[in-house]
Amino acid sequence: MSRVYIFAAKTTILTAQPGNSLADKPVSIMSEIPPCPKCHSEYAYPSDGLLICSECFHEWNPDETPALVEEDVLQVLDSNGNVLQNGDSVIVIKDLPVKGMPKPVKAGTKVKNIRLTDGDHNIDCKIEGFGAMGLKSEFVRKA
Ligand SMILES: [Zn+2]
Repeated sequence: MSRVYIFAAKTTILTAQPGNSLADKPVSIMSEIPPCPKCHSEYAYPSDGLLICSECFHEWNPDETPALVEEDVLQVLDSNGNVLQNGDSVIVIKDLPVKGMPKPVKAGTKVKNIRLTDGDHNIDCKIEGFGAMGLKSEFVRKA
């Protein structure tokens, strides 16, 4: 008696033999199958033009999978258009009046360890003599 093996066109799945530690996981013959967009399993396999996740059974069309969705990164630019990052030091480029303070933050004041926020004043920082305050990135430049 000879056994008959039936393979679907182009979507051959090599299933490990019993006794093999991978027995319960279909082994994909293609190495460039993207991970499942739902559960990030690497054990997706192709079927009829779709990819099917062997762990959560999510089906998706690889052609419609968006290339890594761009993260919504907060980008804060200084007065020169340089990208600022958390922890940067910046220099105030003009005198900035501070509510409730008799004197402004002077131009040239160095501000260390800034933290970016997405508010109108997009830099959180501490300035000596003033305490915690918010600055607008357009009034500073990267130190
Ligand atoms: Zn999945």
